[in-house]
Amino acid sequence: MQNILCPICDQDDTFPVDQRRQQGLSILTVGCRRCGLVYHNPVIEDRDRIGAAVSSRKWHTGDADSSRQHRKLLKRWNLQWPFIQPFFQPGFRVLEIGCGLGLTGGKLKSLGAEVWAVEPDPDQAAYARQHYGLEVVPLHLEDVSFEGQQFDLILASHVIEHFPDPLACLRQLRSYAAPDARLFLETPNILAPKVSFRRLFSPAHNFYFAPPTLSWLLARAGWQEDRLRIWRRDAFQILARPAPPKPPVVNPRVALDVRRAIHRHRYLYYLKLLFIWRKIPWWQTHWMYQEQPPG
Ligand SMILES: [Zn+2]
Repeated sequence: MQNILCPICDQDDTFPVDQRRQQGLSILTVGCRRCGLVYHNPVIEDRDRIGAAVSSRKWHTGDADSSRQHRKLLKRWNLQWPFIQPFFQPGFRVLEIGCGLGLTGGKLKSLGAEVWAVEPDPDQAAYARQHYGLEVVPLHLEDVSFEGQQFDLILASHVIEHFPDPLACLRQLRSYAAPDARLFLETPNILAPKVSFRRLFSPAHNFYFAPPTLSWLLARAGWQEDRLRIWRRDAFQILARPAPPKPPVVNPRVALDVRRAIHRHRYLYYLKLLFIWRKIPWWQTHWMYQEQPPG
């Protein structure tokens, strides 16, 4: 575990969000007063998770079998593809970070893309290789080099929140981007979380983004937000294009919005019975996964 500065502001000026002990790890979650980025400080690294004898995958899914994982991935793909499709072309060179069982890469491959993937979990990497024929590197992104290679589309779905250093990760991906490439990211939205307050600040994640905070971090790393799609609850998606890196100009209102959202979530999640609603497929389709205007 390592103490960090806010990767958007390079400052340590935070308010406390949550503190807990979970699976042998003592977790302190804070929010940056300037930009509103929420994160564990110190950040949790994979060796801490391994020290607690739990892999990153098991933090999330327990010992879930692959059919359950597949249903989850298929649901996500169906929500992601319409957002990616207008930009996608057959023949694209695609890089997927954290491909899991490889369903997304498999779909893109069947649509004519050449797909490379990175997946640190060796079992899932082997599955993606065998079932979808993906070129999977079974390592952490930090230990991989695709130097000299360029990709037209880079995907990281529910991945960026896990890294101890997401700025370094976005910069590394930037170095693999073709001039007209797009980066697709999806990550949980701290302004409208899907899971209960009790489960929210789990040791599997390190960072809790709102659409503006992710956009500012992207700007610092040399990516410019191109398109944004926000669900009413759960997550949001960003397509970004390469741009010169620039210091982000943060809007202080976002930190207030984030504080208020976390405070409300603590109680309203239970009062509104969201833990029941979110399990109902009709509600998911007609309410939760409806696009919300930004701001
Ligand atoms: Zn900050």
